[in-house]
Amino acid sequence: MTALPADCVDRIRRAINRDRLLATATELIAVPSPTGQAGAVSDRLAELITADGFAVRREIADHPAAPAVLATLDSGKPGPTMQFNGHLDVVHLPFVPPRVEGNRLLGSGSCDMKAGVAAAWEAVRALRDADALPMGKILFSANDLHEAPWGLGEQLNALIRAGIHGDAVLIPESLRTPLPIAGRGSATWKLHLRRSGEPVHEVYRPMDEPSVIAAAADWVARLEQFDRELAQESHPLAGAASVFIGQIHSGEIYNQYPQVCMIEGTRRWLDGTSSDAVRADFFARLDALARDRGVTVDCEWKLIREAFQLDPHCRLVEAFQANHALLSGEPLPIGAKRFVDDGNSFWGIAGIPAITHGPIAAGAHTVHEWVDLDDLVRVATLYALTAVSFCSGESLV
Ligand SMILES: [Zn+2]
Repeated sequence: MTALPADCVDRIRRAINRDRLLATATELIAVPSPTGQAGAVSDRLAELITADGFAVRREIADHPAAPAVLATLDSGKPGPTMQFNGHLDVVHLPFVPPRVEGNRLLGSGSCDMKAGVAAAWEAVRALRDADALPMGKILFSANDLHEAPWGLGEQLNALIRAGIHGDAVLIPESLRTPLPIAGRGSATWKLHLRRSGEPVHEVYRPMDEPSVIAAAADWVARLEQFDRELAQESHPLAGAASVFIGQIHSGEIYNQYPQVCMIEGTRRWLDGTSSDAVRADFFARLDALARDRGVTVDCEWKLIREAFQLDPHCRLVEAFQANHALLSGEPLPIGAKRFVDDGNSFWGIAGIPAITHGPIAAGAHTVHEWVDLDDLVRVATLYALTAVSFCSGESLV
């Protein structure tokens, strides 16, 4: 990919405004937004965008309490759409207001990920101010319902399914390195094995009723075998498909014949397998267990995110790496995505390439969040440059 002209890079760098970026991040952090209740901060962001002179679009996307916030920078010339996407909700912990200490911004969501959202928005403003987008569009979007267990990405999934997305996405979660190119999909499962009778003293045990503990032991053995088979499906970076048991419980005391056994765990899979197929297979295995053991089974299955894959030679990665090298001296090493994130949804639902990359930060999911302000400015600059490279026609392949 051809490097951007030096004067274009200079104009963008000069247009990135650190004070304006810090002010936006501070405003977003100042509005509490536990997952599911990001309405007020979404409204605040919409006001800020309007004050910046952009038109705001709100999309309910299955979540009327906090319609998603969208804005577009249109070059006026045809070309691809680069999307910046982030979530405005934070995990349910006591609220910590924003404050600056030296080069750090602290407060709820500073790390995960309101400062990242502010950096993405600063990139849009800078591109507008520098008049630096030669063709195509930037779609900026921010949503609620990201953080589990209160959300499972439902609002973003609804937007993607409705066709509201770009041709490639940058997600400013606080991942500085590596550049993740492969990750497993994941789901959680929780099942109850039951027999029909009441809990009774074991000496009164009805001999025609199955032992839920023996059925559970059988399930554990079956999953152990299944996990060995899944281990054959392995990706050098993402690791192996797996099934995992994290908790099992039955019974109250040593001599009572229990009625129910609870077991829960996870299932992970690789790109190329759909979550629907994984789910259907799992439930077929449960049906077989119920039939063989004479127990009833109910299972809560929660899809967390689909599997993730990113072609390291695609246009998005080339645009990103060229500009990362420009700003930081070298491209990012590629690596695995250990945890699922919204990039999995873009790829799994719509086949859209997505890069998760954000500022140096720490304390996600604690009351001690912070983000490095110098690095936040770097992220805003990198997003703006990458968008121009991605949207520019000269090296379209
Ligand atoms: Zn996050």
